[in-house]
Amino acid sequence: MKARRLHFVILLMGVFLLGAGYAHAAQTIGVAMPTKSSQRWIDDGNNMVKYLEAMGYDTDLQYAEDVIENQLSQIENMIVKGVDVLVIASIDGETLSDVLQQAHDMKIPVIAYDRLIKKSPNVDLYATFDNFQVGVLQARYIEDTLGLKQGKGPFNIELFGGSPDDNNAYFFYDGAMSVLQPYIDSGKLVVRSGQMGMDKVSTLRWDGSVAQARMDNLLSAFYTTEKVDAVLSPYDGLSIGILSSLKGVGYGTPEQPMPVVTGQDAEIPSIKSIVAGEQTQTVFKDTRELAKVAAEMVDKLLKGQKPPVNDTKTYDNGVKVVPSFLLVPYSVDRSNWEEVLVKSGYYDRKQIVE
Ligand code: BGC
Repeated sequence: MKARRLHFVILLMGVFLLGAGYAHAAQTIGVAMPTKSSQRWIDDGNNMVKYLEAMGYDTDLQYAEDVIENQLSQIENMIVKGVDVLVIASIDGETLSDVLQQAHDMKIPVIAYDRLIKKSPNVDLYATFDNFQVGVLQARYIEDTLGLKQGKGPFNIELFGGSPDDNNAYFFYDGAMSVLQPYIDSGKLVVRSGQMGMDKVSTLRWDGSVAQARMDNLLSAFYTTEKVDAVLSPYDGLSIGILSSLKGVGYGTPEQPMPVVTGQDAEIPSIKSIVAGEQTQTVFKDTRELAKVAAEMVDKLLKGQKPPVNDTKTYDNGVKVVPSFLLVPYSVDRSNWEEVLVKSGYYDRKQIVE
C-alpha cells in the first residue's frame, strides 16, 4: 500500500516537473515575411504572432523588404537560433533550397506561407488560398461588367501579371486566362498591344511603379485613338499605379470613364478607390484565416498530430507535391465591400469612409 502511494507521489511530481519544464521552455516559431510595403503582409505577420502566442509559442517575426539576400540571412539566423518551425512567405520562390537544406539538417519543419517554395524537397506544408480561383474571379468580373456572355463587344483589354519569381502569379494569370482566352480567340476581347503571356506581362516584385510605367507606354503606343475598356490587374498595388496612369491621360470623367480595373488583397487605398468609383473590383483573401491555418499547422506538426490539409494535387514545387490547405477568395466591389469587409470585422467602416 505504502509503496503504491509513493509511486503515485513520484508520478505526480514527474507530471508537475514536466509541466513546469514546458512552461519555461516555450518553443519558438520563426516567421519570415517578404515586405512591409504592403498592408496585407503586415497583417499576416501580426496575425501569425497573435495566434501562435495564444497557443503558447514564442515568435521571431522578420520582414525582408523584398530583398532576397535579407530574407536568406534572416532565415539562416532563425536556424542558428534554433527555432522549432519555420513559416516562410518567400520573396523569390526558387532561392531558398540551400537554407532549407540547413533547416532540414537541424530537423526544423518548414511551412510555405501563401507563396509556394519551389525546387526544394524540404517544404513540409503549404497554407494558401485557391490562387487559380483568384484569377477566375478577376476575369469573371470583367466578363460580367462588359456583358461578354451576352455577346457584347468587341472591347479592348490589357493584361498585367504579378512577379515572375512568385509561383502565385502564374496561377492568377492562368485562372484569369481560363475565362478570357475564349473571348480573345473569338475577337470579342482585343489586346491592342498584343502583349500576352507571363513572359510579356509580368511585374517584377509586384511593383506598382513598374506597372504604372508599363501602362503609360501602352496608352501612348496603342490607345491614342482607341479606348481601353478593361485592365486585368492581379494586385491592388499594381491597380493603383495603373489608375494613376489612366488618370494622367484623362480617364475617369463622364466623357471618358475609367475602364474596368481589377485587383487583389482588398487593401484600404483600393477599397477607398472602389468607393470613389475608380478601381472596379478587388479580391479579398481573409489573412486572419490564413494565419489561423498556418498556426494550426505549426501546432499539429509540433504535437505529432495530423495538420490541416485539403489539397494534395495542385502544388507541385518541381521536386514534390506539397500538401496544402487552400482557403476561399471572394470578389469585392462597390456593391458588397461593407458586407464582406466591415461586417466580418476585417475593417472598421471608419478606415474606409469618414
Ligand atoms: C499574394 C497576393 C499579393 C501579392 C503581392 C502574392 O503572392 O498571394 O495576395 O497580392 O503576392 O504581394
